[in-house]
Amino acid sequence: MALEPRALTLMHRRQQLALRKSTVAQMEDLWPALDWADLDRSFPGFAAEALRVVSKNRRTSSGLAAGYLRAFRVASGLSGDVRIIVPQMPAEQFATSLRVTSLIAAKKAAANGVPVDVAMSNALTQSSGAMARLVLNAGRDTVTQTIRSDPKARGWERVLGGGGCDFCQMLAGRVYPRDNAGFDAHDHCGCTAEPAY
Ligand SMILES: [Zn+2]
Repeated sequence: MALEPRALTLMHRRQQLALRKSTVAQMEDLWPALDWADLDRSFPGFAAEALRVVSKNRRTSSGLAAGYLRAFRVASGLSGDVRIIVPQMPAEQFATSLRVTSLIAAKKAAANGVPVDVAMSNALTQSSGAMARLVLNAGRDTVTQTIRSDPKARGWERVLGGGGCDFCQMLAGRVYPRDNAGFDAHDHCGCTAEPAY
């Protein structure tokens, strides 16, 4: 028997949250490439590795969203044949966000007398959260941009991430019209978009 639309949404959310978790773990793995003793010189190599992780995981996030959109359409009594819009990698946003949350955050903390290990561990938390947001935004934007070009769709709704995002509580549950500006997510946000037909 085919799944109900909301069950598909919960499954999709679970998949995106697992991808968020593995993105954070992959950022932790490559973190030692950013060398405290030589931040400026080690940053480009670290950034190249981070770009590889984020680009690959964004493709996964978009792919999950595409499968979800088709299944959701079928579960809503429509055909699964819809033109999927895959968002571009926001190269500039990636570069700025990574630099600010890793290199600059670590330098600033050190300048304020924060011990090195604390400064670096805080910077890791910030940058892995920022990168996970960029990854999950690929899936969110795949949903909202595909909805925007789908004449059968009314809009989309924010579904809260597991564990709860306090900031997002007030935004959840209402249907945003198709031509809405898009999905606003914060770092570490686990929310996803659900279509409304
Ligand atoms: Zn959220």
